[in-house]
Amino acid sequence: MSIKDIGEFGFIDRISRGCLIRPDSIVKAIGDDAAAFQTGADRLTLVTTDLLVERVHFLREATSGFNLGYKALAVNLSDIAAMGGIAREAFVSIAIPEECSLKYLDDLYNGMKRLAAEFDVNILGGDTTSSKTDLIINVAVTGTVKESEILLRSTAQVGDIIFSTGYLGDSRAGLHLILNNTPAESAALKELFNAHILPKPFLREGLFLAACRDVHAAIDVSDGLSSDLGHIAKESRVGARLDAHRIPVSPHLHTFCSRFGFDPVDFALAGGEDYTLLCTIGRDSADKVARTYLSKFNQSLYPIGEITDTGRIELVEDNDKVRVITPTGWNHFKDWNDEYRSL
Ligand code: ADP
Ligand code: MG
Repeated sequence: MSIKDIGEFGFIDRISRGCLIRPDSIVKAIGDDAAAFQTGADRLTLVTTDLLVERVHFLREATSGFNLGYKALAVNLSDIAAMGGIAREAFVSIAIPEECSLKYLDDLYNGMKRLAAEFDVNILGGDTTSSKTDLIINVAVTGTVKESEILLRSTAQVGDIIFSTGYLGDSRAGLHLILNNTPAESAALKELFNAHILPKPFLREGLFLAACRDVHAAIDVSDGLSSDLGHIAKESRVGARLDAHRIPVSPHLHTFCSRFGFDPVDFALAGGEDYTLLCTIGRDSADKVARTYLSKFNQSLYPIGEITDTGRIELVEDNDKVRVITPTGWNHFKDWNDEYRSL
């Protein structure tokens, strides 16, 4: 048996047994967007880390140093956002192949520093080593959150309305353009390209949602709507029903799909790397939270379905047919060799 047989999540389940030696101050161990532990009265420290490997997560020839650095930090900030936290400190470890230019590495740090400055994050340390051929970059970020406000994957309740903080599927379309060397010659294609390359961490929005008492659960969309909603369902022991026509599809993705013959809902369900937040909100407060969100951020909080007790993820299609969907988002090793993909 190899890792390909059990996949990324089977592997994480397998190794997570026996990891927790001192459970006393741990609020969340392996199994959420970040770990959380007590470090002060009603204050938790959050820690998350993500690894980017050349040819697995990015193609160096197709990614500028700036964009790579930005994204390496952005994906970690997104995990802190999904816990409802404030990002604080970052640590950056990097394995550098000999032929990688200093200019590329300077650009990489400039990308990280730009985003770090925007979200008030210090880069406090890391590690540097050589690599035979591939550039490898690992970023770890700490954050803080009030214990009473932390957003978990495991606390969705039956009847909750499920929301996304932004469009879904754009990033996957951007990746398609990159893999096929399609020039981003129109404004629509450029938006898709940017959604993939420069994802926005929803930190301010996550903080707001965490402070709303009836926001029950959250996750960021790194693997794809079906897969990430599947994590909420599994951890909360619930099901979910999505309305296909309510899934937020950008006008750019519509343009892309009609030009290249794809279905936008497939991109939204299985795409991944959108880094929007999915959250579930108690039915009675959902409208009010969405209205306040709109007035505060001038952006919609999109309702896309509801939490059910079926244990399944279902999609109500436009003809009112209900289809059970399996998590088809990105899962390292199971999709091994299918296609290059970024994170
Ligand atoms: P995300 O997509 O939000 O970054 P992941 O799916 O990568 O989350 O990770 C899910 C959980 O598994 C997290 O708690 C993460 O810290 C943990 N995890 C992932 N890989 C490992 C590993 N090799 N050893 C220990 N924990 C891991
Ligand atoms: Mg995450």
